[in-house]
Amino acid sequence: MDRWQNRVAVISGASSGIGAACARLLVAAGLQVVGLARRTDRLEKLRQSLPEDQRARFHQHTCDVSQESQVNGAFEWIERELGGIDVLINNAGIVLGGQLIDMPTKDIGNILQTNLMGSIYCTKLAAGSMRRRQVAGHLFFVNSTAGVAGYKPDPADESLNAYTPSKFGLTAVHEICRQELIQKGSKIKTTSINPGWVATEIVPDETKAKLGEVILQADDVAQAVLYALSTPPHTQVEQITLRAVGEYF
Ligand code: NDP
Repeated sequence: MDRWQNRVAVISGASSGIGAACARLLVAAGLQVVGLARRTDRLEKLRQSLPEDQRARFHQHTCDVSQESQVNGAFEWIERELGGIDVLINNAGIVLGGQLIDMPTKDIGNILQTNLMGSIYCTKLAAGSMRRRQVAGHLFFVNSTAGVAGYKPDPADESLNAYTPSKFGLTAVHEICRQELIQKGSKIKTTSINPGWVATEIVPDETKAKLGEVILQADDVAQAVLYALSTPPHTQVEQITLRAVGEYF
């Protein structure tokens, strides 16, 4: 991790779950971490909970990633205050349940705007910062097993019906970015992290009760991010799919 010391990692959705776990690990590993989220109080709580000698490496900025103007404002602030972006973890995401063919279009739009467009807004700006400064940075996409080929929705659980298209879209965004960066002769890496169920706030309590012990922890996913980031400059970890042992779909 030597080459990442004091480099700047931006994590969207750092106020809870997987994003907060990534923030803890990357701050501990010596990076400067910028946490983006809507709940500023939760970002501040996270900062306070860090070991005192690491706290100064965590920076927070209120940002709704579904709003392009807010993402632009956040990234301008990061450029100005910290000099640019070296690592991006596209992690912010929401779930709104229901059947795609029956649920309000507004809800479907919210999911796509957050999970897909939010990642696109952040990726364009982070890749721009890396390319301008000729940094061999790293772009992460926190996707899902719901976003990879072979995913079979559980007919008894409609929580992921509208979420699934947003994550399939993210799979395409990742692959296109990977190809475009190669075409440009860039050394920027891209990695898709595809977890199954993780015990975070996004998962309804009934689902957690049904899964029992067959569920990942946020830190398991953060460790996968850290592994991909720690590989040598010539190695690209393209995808990591993680499921709890015994998880069926
Ligand atoms: P959490 O609900 O704990 O975290 C979601 C994070 O996204 C929060 O920090 C939330 O912050 C942020 N967020 C949501 N909407 C916005 C927005 N419009 N702008 C900025 N931030 C936003 O769930 P997870 O940690 O589990 O989710 C993280 C990612 O992991 C998501 O992309 C999710 O799809 C993915 N994932 C989760 C799985 C699971 O089973 N838990 C499985 C597979 C993938 P705030 O509300 O403060 O804005």
